[in-house]
Amino acid sequence: MVLATGGTIAGAAGSDVQAGYASGLVGVEELLAAVPQARKLATLRGEQISNIGSQDMNDEVWLKLAHRVNELVAMADVDGVVITHGTDTIEETGYFLNLVVKSRKPVVMTASMRPSTALSADGPLNFFNAVAVAADPDAAGRGVLVVINDWIHGARALTKTSTTAVQTFLSPLQGMIGTVAYGAAEFYRLPVGRHTTESEFSLDGANALPRVDIIMAHENMDGVLINAAAAAGARGVVVAGVGNGNMTASALDALAALARKGIVAVRSTRVTTGRVSRNVEVDDDQLGLIASGELSPHKARVLLRLALLTPRTPADVQRLFHEY
Ligand code: ASP
Repeated sequence: MVLATGGTIAGAAGSDVQAGYASGLVGVEELLAAVPQARKLATLRGEQISNIGSQDMNDEVWLKLAHRVNELVAMADVDGVVITHGTDTIEETGYFLNLVVKSRKPVVMTASMRPSTALSADGPLNFFNAVAVAADPDAAGRGVLVVINDWIHGARALTKTSTTAVQTFLSPLQGMIGTVAYGAAEFYRLPVGRHTTESEFSLDGANALPRVDIIMAHENMDGVLINAAAAAGARGVVVAGVGNGNMTASALDALAALARKGIVAVRSTRVTTGRVSRNVEVDDDQLGLIASGELSPHKARVLLRLALLTPRTPADVQRLFHEY
């Protein structure tokens, strides 16, 4: 099954060499028709979930997509799912699905950096490779995968590293899951962290997700935006800290005050790689804060939103950041 959500892979421009384009113009049937080679790998059926640039990704689409993927993977005649998506937020959607899809069947996301009309468009081969991986029995049990530019990434590990380059996605700390060349996949490892069938999260009965805001730390930071998040109804706040999840003393005071009120306060980092660990320069035990481990601020936010579907102690939320 191919579920299309939009993105540059479904984007089009007025000419093949112009930088400006619009995401989400090409429908799933057109996308399938553009890569007839993929039909030699699997029997394909397409469904349009949305057709948006992934900068517009939202909870309505997330819930619809997650529910549909779970329905499809439960069907005996579906062997795998390919999801086309924009690159801007694929790591968030991928990690979300990694935590809520209940199946070992391959769920493979793909995207492109160049629109379908571009000179040397990267979408068709990415799509072909994604279908090949979804049809490969070796892809099973590895969580939600992202196939792009010949590499197979785990949804938890990958991150976008360039605004425009075709080779934008890396899995810097954990390494990639494998490679795929013209449909021939090689798998190197299993992903780190609990996922899919081993995940304790469930969307059964959920038709909304709690609000969690991300605030970026910087020189001379105060607590104004941290307090504004709480005033806007955030049940959790993630600070994209400097270095090992650090921030100014006044920002830390504001964050600790939120934690005392029961708003879950997570320290992550604006740095691209590396862990945020407990009690290094900040006394998390005393202030009641959570350290994000390896999760980027945007992935920490995804985990925290799912965590907050159930009442939990800070210690239990910290456990989730260790296990997922
Ligand atoms: N803005 C686009 C999107 O995320 C970028 C892309 O797909 O490469 O939908």
